[in-house]
Amino acid sequence: MNASEKKVVRLGSVRKTFGDLTALDGVSLEIREGEAVAVMGPSGSGKSTLLNMVAGLDRPASGKVEVDGEDISGMGEAALARFRRRRIGMVFQFFNLLDDLPALENVALAGRLVGVPARKARARALELLDELGIADRGDAYPAVLSGGERQRVGVARALMNRPALLLADEPTGALDSATGEQVIDLLLDLNRKGQTLLLVTHDERLAARCATRLIEFRDGGIVGETARERSEPWIAR
Ligand code: ADP
Ligand code: MG
Repeated sequence: MNASEKKVVRLGSVRKTFGDLTALDGVSLEIREGEAVAVMGPSGSGKSTLLNMVAGLDRPASGKVEVDGEDISGMGEAALARFRRRRIGMVFQFFNLLDDLPALENVALAGRLVGVPARKARARALELLDELGIADRGDAYPAVLSGGERQRVGVARALMNRPALLLADEPTGALDSATGEQVIDLLLDLNRKGQTLLLVTHDERLAARCATRLIEFRDGGIVGETARERSEPWIAR
């Protein structure tokens, strides 16, 4: 397999509280380069909180978060924002595209924000849209794109700066079954080409098709873990 020994994610005893609520109760987790890790578990168990921690969108109350070899829990705001834009790609359930920019510009913007010149950013964005099969939709605004097209734009944007880690929170959650399948194929293909993935999902097809490791999350902690071959059938709980 393409999994190397390099650790792209390292969480050490990460705790996160919201007032009296403990959302993450001392989570430790390592993800090697090339893995596709799927986190599954009931609503409210802390999965999104976990992903936001790894994304640097939120900070732990205690514990350490390392991504791509950098301790992001200790970084200042500006450095963290810079790191996030350059090294982490994130895909959302509801796409989070900018409605007043065409698809191509949504993607190119991710490059512009890290200082890539406009022409170069647009060329790279077009190349990505092409790879994802929607080169002809570059001028379209999100409002006229289908759900599947919007999510492809979301994935292209996340890949713009060749991130060390691609995070996805319920990437098929807002898509119909057939469109979801296409996004699953897309994520699988990216991982086969070496992209490290951390997915949070309720979608058992996504986990079964894509994941090289399944993590079961409950009450703010990891309660089960299975490394697997993708070809193995996976019995849903
Ligand atoms: P999941 O993604 O597994 O459904 P979340 O990580 O969204 O779970 O939430 C875990 C727990 O933390 C839930 O009880 C949720 O209500 C709470 N929570 C999440 N974000 C916040 C927040 N910003 N403020 C207060 N409570 C939050
Ligand atoms: Mg969630």
